[in-house]
Amino acid sequence: MSGKEKASIGVIGGSGLYDPEIFSNTKEIKVYTPYGEPSDLITLGTLEGKQVAFIPRHGRKHRIPPHKINYRANVWALKELGVKWVISVSAVGSLNLKYKPGDFVIPDQFIDMTKGRQYTFYDGPVVAHVSMAEPFCNSLRKVIIQSSKKLNITAHEKGTYICIEGPRFSTRSESVVWKDVFKADVIGMTLVPEVNLACEAEMCYSTIAMITDYDVFADIPVTAEEVTKVMAENTEKAKALLRETIKSLPDAPDERECSCCHSLKTALI
Ligand SMILES: [Zn+2]
Repeated sequence: MSGKEKASIGVIGGSGLYDPEIFSNTKEIKVYTPYGEPSDLITLGTLEGKQVAFIPRHGRKHRIPPHKINYRANVWALKELGVKWVISVSAVGSLNLKYKPGDFVIPDQFIDMTKGRQYTFYDGPVVAHVSMAEPFCNSLRKVIIQSSKKLNITAHEKGTYICIEGPRFSTRSESVVWKDVFKADVIGMTLVPEVNLACEAEMCYSTIAMITDYDVFADIPVTAEEVTKVMAENTEKAKALLRETIKSLPDAPDERECSCCHSLKTALI
């Protein structure tokens, strides 16, 4: 990798979004990290005049399950390329009847129910405890929300994303607990530790959670065909939303509005 290959915006694509076809002047590069290989080659390209780095979280052809993703390598690689804004895209189930299949959610909170992942860049001797009180970048969330309004895409402005270990789905009892006891709105398997690693790397991070169906609590039978149809529609909307968001982003995060770029200031011991 030469020092010239830089991007200020990173996009981590989830289920349904593996192909960076919305970017032009693309070039694939391999990035080496101290944590091993990222999920795939990283595509550098331009969109709306901005340099963007794209990585498919599960690898192309969806070959890496959520619990096997090398989150540290993915986040490290984006940081290495100079990324300041990270927009992640992920498919989720809904735990809230008001959040319907086909809707998007821009979560403002998460609950971590994963079990055995690599959660930090700071395994010692340097120790860091980053704050997760506000886990997502509010400046970036605001731009995504405004962009979705412009495009008439239904995007709920708040929501709690519960991240489970997978790869299995929840039992009905678990689903009811997530919904009624934990009060989570959407459920997925990939947000953690991506979100907190981005924080440790002092990058602004927000996720576009695309609802494919209701989680099992609702007991609403859906066919694979229905889910595939919603996912395809969501992917098209996500591409439009990415384009509008990237167009609207300033070159660098506004330090008055977010503290993401200084998250290590009070975290290192
Ligand atoms: Zn920020």
